[in-house]
Amino acid sequence: MQINGQCHCGSITYEAEIDPDDVSICHCTDCQRLTGTAFRVTVSTAATQFTMTGNPPRRYEKRADNGALRLQFFCGDCGSPIYTTGEGKDAEVVGIRWGSINQRSQLKPRHQIWCRSSMGWLDEIPGLPGRPGD
Ligand SMILES: [Zn+2]
Ligand SMILES: [Zn+2]
Repeated sequence: MQINGQCHCGSITYEAEIDPDDVSICHCTDCQRLTGTAFRVTVSTAATQFTMTGNPPRRYEKRADNGALRLQFFCGDCGSPIYTTGEGKDAEVVGIRWGSINQRSQLKPRHQIWCRSSMGWLDEIPGLPGRPGD
């Protein structure tokens, strides 16, 4: 499936070819901290299928629990997370941040990881009082 995406301010844009089955949720505490919310949704694809078409993103490096260096790319102007990749063999795969994808409403998660730090209240969301707008 062909997708494209951008950060909130539009400075950073990209195109990619992805498999809609490679959509996952991560509940790890790093993703909670880096996104500012309960979990992260990411679409993984081969680095060769991912092309940046706008301004260059900024990079933040973090060391994962397994010792691997993770490179987090985001917009230096608006702060939107764009994608992640790694070093060496890990550089062959990019994890595109779901919220930056223009076609995201067609992409739903197929699996989840780091469930041991998942918030227990996620199951309760369907029962919360809700409104269609603000
Ligand atoms: Zn931006
Ligand atoms: Zn994570």
